[in-house]
Amino acid sequence: MYNISKSVYVNSVNIIKMRGLMINKKMHLLGRERSVIREIFEYGRKRKSEIGENAVFDFSLGNPSVPAPAEVNREIRRLLDTERDTVLHGYTSAAGAPEVREAIANYITSKHCFKTSSDFIYITVGAAAALTSTLTAITNEGDEVIVIAPYFPEYKVFIERCGAKTVSVMADCDFQPDIAAIENAINEKTAAIIINSPNNPTGAVITEEKIKALADMLTKKSREIGHTVYLVADEPYRELAYGVSVPYIPCYYKNTIVCYSYSKSLSLPGERIGYVAVSPEADYARDVYLAILGAGRALGYVCAPSLMQRILPALMGASADVELYNQNRILLYNALTNMGYTAVKPDGAFYMFVKSPSGDAGELCERAKRHELLIVPSDSFGCGGYARISYCVAREEIERALPAFAALAESYGLKGRKND
Ligand code: PLP
Repeated sequence: MYNISKSVYVNSVNIIKMRGLMINKKMHLLGRERSVIREIFEYGRKRKSEIGENAVFDFSLGNPSVPAPAEVNREIRRLLDTERDTVLHGYTSAAGAPEVREAIANYITSKHCFKTSSDFIYITVGAAAALTSTLTAITNEGDEVIVIAPYFPEYKVFIERCGAKTVSVMADCDFQPDIAAIENAINEKTAAIIINSPNNPTGAVITEEKIKALADMLTKKSREIGHTVYLVADEPYRELAYGVSVPYIPCYYKNTIVCYSYSKSLSLPGERIGYVAVSPEADYARDVYLAILGAGRALGYVCAPSLMQRILPALMGASADVELYNQNRILLYNALTNMGYTAVKPDGAFYMFVKSPSGDAGELCERAKRHELLIVPSDSFGCGGYARISYCVAREEIERALPAFAALAESYGLKGRKND
């Protein structure tokens, strides 16, 4: 607790004085300061109102532009027409409706390499709640959680809320986990490692070879330090992969907890639905699962939205039209590299990571703004020198933005080249 009456602070609008208000300082700071991504998005909204909707090219947010598959609305309508309101809108079990958890478990079993059951599935309010419940369950005050930079910025918020420490380990030059560097960072305080593939912000998909190496190293290190290091696989982009397979991590490392979301695969980010799947083979799997339920309870996350839970059994394996993102990816990657930019060719998700010609991420993003291009500096993802472009926008928006990207390239004197 801290007393705001003692702190007279200045925000971007004015000076605020509050007397005798006892609140949590860390939470106050989080509420007061928007994320850099949100800041850029809000700037874009304002700028669009000044110069027109089509004159600003906003590549800041990861908000899917591809509609949900038709089966989603069909299933919602069917349920509204056939189910009793008290069931449809009523509380489900705290961990999620048993038949929905069973459908998820059966789908995992049919699609991947091992048998799981509804007893290891916890339905959540998206991947964010899956991550916060999991991290709350498996960490204690003073523990460390390793993240691989560049990483989704909210990881730090989620980890530090638990009283744990974020340990950032830079990925290798192909944006794959650097196994030796992770090994060096592991010590007695390490509770978990978060990995995210396909990755936000780079679009990289972790290769099977790297996962095997990571699994071997974690098995060895867990033995050495005397406790299990859990792997938290954050997988909201699992279905968004272009011509590459995305290895299912629990098949390689038994101590894996998958945090999944339908936000991107079904284009339902505002509906807030996802799940935690604890590998039944994990050390103390049942206790880990119970701790996740307990964490969800402590955080007030019991019973994810009932209607959204109930559409899931009919939608196992369904996906938004990922090919539209693929076409954006090809268009943008070819155009930018032909203009002389250096970009990481993304294998998945809907983000492209572009190198700053000056080496300074912030400088690139500020200069891009002058061309009405809104992109996110990589410093927000724990690594310098790049910008993230979210290409989950309409194809026409990318086409309209290309002259602005070209003008930006020219301002750096980048040399364009002919199409391959
Ligand atoms: N993890 C990553 C890497 C993300 O990019 C996001 C959202 O963009 C999330 C987790 C949170 O997903 P959800 O909307 O399902 O809470």
